[in-house]
Amino acid sequence: MSFIEQDIKPSLNQSESGSAARIIIAGPCSAETELQVLETAQMLTGLGVSYFRAGVWKPRTSPDSFEGAGYQALEWLVQARNKFGLRLAIEVANARHVEAALKHDIDLLWIGARSTVNPFTVQEIADALRGVKKPVMVKNPVNPDAGLWKGAIERVLRADVGQVFACHRGFDVYGKTRFRNEPLWEIPIELKRHYPEIPLICDPSHITGKRILIEEVARKALNLGYEGLMIETHPDPVNAWSDAEQQLTPQEFGELIRRLQFRMPSTDNPSYQEQVAILRDAIDEVDSQLLEVLANRMELSKRIGEMKSENNVAFYQHNRWNSVVEHARDEARKLGLNEEFVLKLFSAIHLESIDIQGE
Ligand code: PEP
Ligand code: MN
Repeated sequence: MSFIEQDIKPSLNQSESGSAARIIIAGPCSAETELQVLETAQMLTGLGVSYFRAGVWKPRTSPDSFEGAGYQALEWLVQARNKFGLRLAIEVANARHVEAALKHDIDLLWIGARSTVNPFTVQEIADALRGVKKPVMVKNPVNPDAGLWKGAIERVLRADVGQVFACHRGFDVYGKTRFRNEPLWEIPIELKRHYPEIPLICDPSHITGKRILIEEVARKALNLGYEGLMIETHPDPVNAWSDAEQQLTPQEFGELIRRLQFRMPSTDNPSYQEQVAILRDAIDEVDSQLLEVLANRMELSKRIGEMKSENNVAFYQHNRWNSVVEHARDEARKLGLNEEFVLKLFSAIHLESIDIQGE
């Protein structure tokens, strides 16, 4: 049994009895050279890595970017496994990739974000994997479409493969700001609701696009109960041939993993169960009150809407919206609420009010 199996398999099994599950995938964005692959693998040994990742074929926006070392990289990866006992994970984007990966007995295969958007591609990969009892990970599609992600997972599940994982790598949306790919946490949460048995893995490297933000996103994912992380690591990140801004050194990766805490789905602790049940009842009561207050607010809006209609006045009033925002912001500050959250909430309430008035 390799150190990986000793180290990781028990903690995966423990998850069934209520301990934190952890699947940790680390390695470079791309396999660049034999030396880089072996050096990274060596530096990652002993850090609790479940799978060593490396891109063999890279989907790049520009044909002038490094597109991966291709088939020869599979040999380097097999060497890394033989030398350091790490299980291997690579992206496959068509049936030929699957065939090559299986020939090299790659341990986990994943479908990348650019492939998940295309049901033809997903089906081709699923067909090539039919009956192969290896873990398969499905990344979210580039666009924020939970249905497309679910559809891809469904195709893979029906191919009767091994354990299926879902990987959240963020979404390409118009107007993104801090992140390379917006996390839109509600989408993976919805996926988890639909597929509670499928372990959810966060890829903070591709969500953030920046080293400095990785810890924040990884921590949030674990707080939400994600079962694993995939983090790009490179011995010399600044000079990486792809995704240089988001890779960590194996040492930084090791320190990060030590600082993070994986969380359990629940606990049998009776005093926890008892106290949480009381607090949840109280929350249910407050939620009912919130809904009543909202219904009152909408009723008042409706009455204003009728008067606007009679007087042929536009439903949206810029000045009024500004004063609502100002008021909400002041109150939020006084009450110690997150202003950004309160403004989002009011924005949704205000839009709904305008719709109601328009009816
Ligand atoms: C990757 O993980 O190497 C990758 C290309 O990611 P994504 O498919 O999420 O862009
Ligand atoms: Mn990458």
